[in-house]
Amino acid sequence: MRLVLLGAPGAGKGTQAKKLIEKYGIPQISTGDLLRAAVGEGTPLGVEAKSYMDKGELVPDSVVLGMVEERLRQDDCKDGYILDGFPRNTAQAEALDGMLENLGMPLDAALSVDVPTEDLMKRLTGRRTCKDCGQMYNIHFSAPASEGACDKCGGELYQRDDDREETISKRLEVYEEQTAPLIDYYSGKGILKSVSGAGDIEEIFANVQETLGLS
Ligand code: AMP
Repeated sequence: MRLVLLGAPGAGKGTQAKKLIEKYGIPQISTGDLLRAAVGEGTPLGVEAKSYMDKGELVPDSVVLGMVEERLRQDDCKDGYILDGFPRNTAQAEALDGMLENLGMPLDAALSVDVPTEDLMKRLTGRRTCKDCGQMYNIHFSAPASEGACDKCGGELYQRDDDREETISKRLEVYEEQTAPLIDYYSGKGILKSVSGAGDIEEIFANVQETLGLS
């Protein structure tokens, strides 16, 4: 399965991608995760990216495209991949098409995870992630059993720097302006599929699998 996951910040793309990895072993390529890793390591790319991420703006295409191509060339992507958080604008989508054509691994589908805008703020402000294993929680909807600690591994939970209210508003604005048009882009290519991202995680996952013809 070669898949692009589309959806607003907080729609649950990362959560569904992680479930697809667990069940089908398809690698997830999350540009947000790759950028956060570069920020954490303090690489020059990370330092440049952080200034955009902290403002809720998109990191320049030149930075992200090189990173994605390098990742797609790795062996584990030969049998499929899930792109999460990429592409984020039409220029990235066009560049991706060219890249995938060269690599001989075109997309099977673009799956849009749809959540009403009014739900997104609460999802994002409540989001917490385990520092050690990456497991995600939401203090409003799926809180860990003991506050601040991961149920799976006991690791410390943290809130992403850009999951604070002022940055979230900007990220949602950038999504509407630059990323939402990709729904039409992939619809025009005849590979768009949609699923509701509202409700229970397992129920959404069942719909994702059905929509993608995996179950
Ligand atoms: P995410 O984890 O996907 O919500 O991304 C967090 C932040 O990383 C975004 O607000 C952007 O600043 C940056 N970012 C992630 N993916 C991309 C991308 N494909 N293009 C540009 N910036 C990105």
